[in-house]
Amino acid sequence: MQYYSADFLYTENKTLENYYIAIEDGIIRNVGPLAELDPEIQPAVKTFADAAIIPGFVNSHNHSFQSLLKGVCDDEDFFAWRDKALYRYSRLMNQEDLYNGALFAFGEMIKNGITTVCDFFYIHDEANDNARTIIRAARDLGMRITMARTMYDWDGAPKRFQETVATAVANTEALIREFQDEPMVHVLPAPHSLHGASVEMIEAGAALSEKYRIPFHMHVAEGQYERQMMLEKHGKSPIRFLHHIGVLNERMVGIHCVWLDDEEIALMGQQQAKISYNPSSNMFLGDGITRIKELLEAGVCIALGSDGGCSNNRASIIEEMRMTNLLQKVKFCDSTVTQAEEAFKMGTVNGGTVLGQRLGKLQPGYAADFVVMDLNDLSLQPRPYFGKHIVYSVQPSAIQAVYVAGECIMNQGELLNIPEKDIVKRVSQTWSRLTNQVAV
Ligand SMILES: [Zn+2]
Repeated sequence: MQYYSADFLYTENKTLENYYIAIEDGIIRNVGPLAELDPEIQPAVKTFADAAIIPGFVNSHNHSFQSLLKGVCDDEDFFAWRDKALYRYSRLMNQEDLYNGALFAFGEMIKNGITTVCDFFYIHDEANDNARTIIRAARDLGMRITMARTMYDWDGAPKRFQETVATAVANTEALIREFQDEPMVHVLPAPHSLHGASVEMIEAGAALSEKYRIPFHMHVAEGQYERQMMLEKHGKSPIRFLHHIGVLNERMVGIHCVWLDDEEIALMGQQQAKISYNPSSNMFLGDGITRIKELLEAGVCIALGSDGGCSNNRASIIEEMRMTNLLQKVKFCDSTVTQAEEAFKMGTVNGGTVLGQRLGKLQPGYAADFVVMDLNDLSLQPRPYFGKHIVYSVQPSAIQAVYVAGECIMNQGELLNIPEKDIVKRVSQTWSRLTNQVAV
């Protein structure tokens, strides 16, 4: 058993002073007051002085390879961004590029206190080797990963993304089974979206999620164009259509869900469907503002995501918690409309909920993923308001150490498993290879 303590633990918006956490096999086994711990065990406790321990952040939506495309099409419209950055470069990436892109994205996340990432990945070449490469990058860094294995059959996208329904199901199922017994790796089916996946593909993804009792992820109603397209094609808006085909249920996690009307919000609440909200990406691409206030009132569980590195362009859940709340305040011209404590839940435990895992709480039975915050950092002063600061004022400089499954993977700004300078070198190599090819 490993024991850790700090000035206080902050979890579920409660401050627990002079508490310890006990960890075994990567799981939190016990949490309690230090004073009640057996005196013989006391010397074994690792105490972080002038520090707080919080649960690690969960990034519930990302596309790791897109970090390599930061800057390429910034400030352009969605279709220019898609065609000139995404489609153009993703055609050229080999496995080493994908690995380097994943190290880049995940390395940045760890430095921002993210302990679990869900990578929504779709460059499959009709197989699973590329997805395994992404998983390997997370493992090499010591991070927990959920692979949202995308199921894609729209023929307007690069060939590498596309699979038939039968191939997508076979590959996704094989990957789910391959990692079934690994606590650090999970696999979920992810029919891309209403524009990237056929109805049959969406139904197949939902069926896999039912078979394995796991969530399925899918982009929903990100831009207005999708709503328009669905109304023209099927006479139904996105959420109504998903309900109509029978896949709007407690296992469905809609990514974005920006363009929803009142009835769709009520339907999501009723069906216990969930959301991964990516406010910075929605702002970056000019998508709009998801109706967080109304969705919360309808009882919808909302987690947060950074989305891909070239539509944000940061990979930080602290940033997303802050943006979530500020956007609602400005939308309603009312500063009381959102609370830091709710956003903190979205960035931690709700992330676990949308991934179907026990993450984001310092509580027995949960993964031993936590972040040590330096209480002497300027951005955490004055100290009594930690629960507000952790959402509104904290800076990455306050992140002292990051632990995943009880193992330290970042300390004092240094990634412990792969040095940051090696990742920078890899990004440069990949970038020159890609640009040389584009130039040809
Ligand atoms: Zn996305």
